[in-house]
Amino acid sequence: MLIDLLITDTTIVTMDAERRIITHAALAVTGSTITAIGKSADLVATYQARTTIDGRRFVITPGLINTHVHTTGEPLTRGLTLDGLDFQTLIYNWLVPAHMAHTEADERLATQCAALEMLRSGTTTFLEAGTIRFLDTVADGLTEIGIRARIGQWAWDFDPATQTHPSAATDEAIALLESEVARYPAANGERIAAWPILIGHMTCSGRLWQAAKSIADSHSLGVAGHMSPVALDPDWFLARHGQRPIEYLAEAGVLGPNTMFTHAVHLNDSEVALLAQARANVSHCATTAMRGGYGASTIGRFPEMLAQGVNITVGTDGNNDSNFHDMMRATHLVAGLHKDARQDTSLFTAEQAFTCATLNGARALQMEHQIGSLEPGKKADFVAHDTNRSEWRPLFNVINQLVWSADGRGVHSVWVDGKRVVENYRCTTIDEDRLLADAQTAGEALVARSGLKIQSVWPVV
Ligand SMILES: [Zn+2]
Repeated sequence: MLIDLLITDTTIVTMDAERRIITHAALAVTGSTITAIGKSADLVATYQARTTIDGRRFVITPGLINTHVHTTGEPLTRGLTLDGLDFQTLIYNWLVPAHMAHTEADERLATQCAALEMLRSGTTTFLEAGTIRFLDTVADGLTEIGIRARIGQWAWDFDPATQTHPSAATDEAIALLESEVARYPAANGERIAAWPILIGHMTCSGRLWQAAKSIADSHSLGVAGHMSPVALDPDWFLARHGQRPIEYLAEAGVLGPNTMFTHAVHLNDSEVALLAQARANVSHCATTAMRGGYGASTIGRFPEMLAQGVNITVGTDGNNDSNFHDMMRATHLVAGLHKDARQDTSLFTAEQAFTCATLNGARALQMEHQIGSLEPGKKADFVAHDTNRSEWRPLFNVINQLVWSADGRGVHSVWVDGKRVVENYRCTTIDEDRLLADAQTAGEALVARSGLKIQSVWPVV
């Protein structure tokens, strides 16, 4: 039988139902789909491939799934903010002005920078944070670079001056969500599709959340938004509604297996129980929590959520929060953070953390049948980790190596939809050198235009 690609004599972390790690393995791909996985000798005898790759130096895993990324606004202003800012100063004095200074061309460049960093470190799919201003341009940039994504345009119905949600603003936001979902459908396995993603926090009314959930339900999509990274959200909801955010949204009918909350740090036991009951999803952005001082390890109930069946996934957020999109570093932190905070080494095992970064992400994205594991019939989204590196040798336990030892710098090659988008540490779809040079030039112009200042605590001479 003729196929497109056969990778032979390799090690495959399948993430299938039995969590098999197959040695002396082969992976067969036809078009955008995995045809077969098994022992190399069997597949070599069965298939004739247009391209055959000797996989002896590789460990092959499913592509990682990043469930919270600001793909615009921050990639071109990475590292602009100093440590020590409180949450509101960071958002309103730095991040919002930076977002608003972006041109359409800046957003295309920013999204390709974010996608390049993700692909080069093993992420094949991401859920964007709902902070895009020029959706069509961003979709175009992502299509060119070849990553898989679910994206959304900036949507809220909040009037900051009056702290209210005017009805006309709600109608406008709902129309926006309907329009983007109609323009970028996900029904036929499209790589780039839109979701009704909300900014969340206190910026969205119950009616807007309900509409977003209803749009998600009717198109088999998910609904996502930020919630409770710090105490501001619960304080605001309690003052306004007499209920905590998750309690309020549960009563509004917004919770479900296709609902995703990002951060979800400041929750009480009742909110955790509601999320578990709804089988809802949480994007654990531990790297942001660390830099922002949210309290994910102290106040956060992530071990309890995982134990009760909340679908915990991993996100890397923005480039002035956690500053990087290497999911292997983020997963390493998720695996370690709670062990140390609770003095309990059984929390978030390496296997659980890697599941959060793959299968749980796929489930949250409503794409469990397409991605998250390597099985016949699923999308050919996978990563070849290079074991000819010091951090990979000697190699005895593959999962320990992936979570505790390696990071995204060891990603040698990446396939999305059967296409090799990273080969021998270089992106094949765009000119990396040119993109990075453009990012520096555009970033400097953008910072100058925004009025924000480039600062350094130490003298730059
Ligand atoms: Zn965010």
